Amino acid sequence: MNLDSLLDNLQPQLDWQREIYRRLHRNPELSMQETGTAEIIETELSGLGLAVQRFGGTGRVVVIENGDGPTVLARADIDALPVTEQTGLDYTSTVDGVMHACGHDMHTAALIGAIRVLAENRDAWHGTYIGLFQPAEETGVGADAMIDDGLVAAIPRPEVALAQHILPLPAGRIATAAGPILSAAESIKITVFGRGGHGSMPHLAIDPVVLAASIVMRLQSIVAREVPPDQFAVVTVGALNAGTKSNIIPDRAELRLNTRSYDPQVRTQLLTAIERIVRAECQAAGSPQEPTFEYYDEFPLTSNDADVNATVTAAFRGYFGDDAVLDSPPVTASEDFSAIPAAFGIPYDYWFIGSVDPQRYQAAVDAGTVASDIPANHSPFFAPVIDPTLEIGTKAQVVAALAYLSD
Ligand code: ZN
Ligand code: ZN
Repeated sequence: MNLDSLLDNLQPQLDWQREIYRRLHRNPELSMQETGTAEIIETELSGLGLAVQRFGGTGRVVVIENGDGPTVLARADIDALPVTEQTGLDYTSTVDGVMHACGHDMHTAALIGAIRVLAENRDAWHGTYIGLFQPAEETGVGADAMIDDGLVAAIPRPEVALAQHILPLPAGRIATAAGPILSAAESIKITVFGRGGHGSMPHLAIDPVVLAASIVMRLQSIVAREVPPDQFAVVTVGALNAGTKSNIIPDRAELRLNTRSYDPQVRTQLLTAIERIVRAECQAAGSPQEPTFEYYDEFPLTSNDADVNATVTAAFRGYFGDDAVLDSPPVTASEDFSAIPAAFGIPYDYWFIGSVDPQRYQAAVDAGTVASDIPANHSPFFAPVIDPTLEIGTKAQVVAALAYLSD
């Protein structure tokens, strides 16, 4: 199969994809509310004569069966974020306070394009291709919602799963690596208890504000003093709330923590240390009640299978050229994609697509101002360049799939 002849004449199709991308970008929807987005996906894919299945409310799946051969699943996430767009683009969000600030509209438009290439060129490959559009990546519940809705029993079992994400890297580049590529994460809501009282009579109260302050400081020692120095870990206290008035000692304080790690043992170490420190500080303060721990927004580790990564990366190098494919360090963000291959018990590969004008990116590198000049994912200024990001994202999904589906 000649990839060049398959992918060289994409321009007419890319016009169609650009229009889909702009439509998605103008109409962002929050996690698990992606009804209009799902409708766009379903309408465009149905228009290609494909049957669209629904899972987990707004999840959509197409299965293209094309004779004997392996089965490959490719996934795109579809949700947007509670961010007020400030890009000034002419296709800026029309929804107040909601923005495709993480590029999931790009992932969606690229996967729709890859599906079309494969659907219209069935003589170029054989096997089964599954395109999966997943809701609610940002809240970490969308993959599970599709799985809980019977995904695994309803579609053919893939051999491998594939996914991609745009990042503020030079457009035209692909970055990937074997092993950990995104961190495991969890959020923890911790409530600690004191005894309320009058601000003028601290001796008659147990002050949860002082207790919470001690906890915040002591938690800093986990990464600094307990985790091995060569291991990656983050413990952030993102919220700390207690009290209502300056002269009232409240009866409780609430902390919201976020952790990140690449190694399951480090993850366990973090969670164990957090609970130990919180309980011990409560005891030290004479807290009248055990603290409570509520885990939420949990994201599994994303760790690329070495064999699948080698196969897909070799295909990328072969098609895009060695210079276009970068080795990626692990990124500290998190994803729930890996829940899908985990549900099937299959390996997977995940890669990043550049989305910044290369000259602009290089100028920022030269000036040492990448952090201040190049808006990253989740920024209200995040504005991926459509070209060539959409084309590369589309081709990457096709090239990766054909690494398994063509001879
Ligand atoms: Zn995001
Ligand atoms: Zn994202």
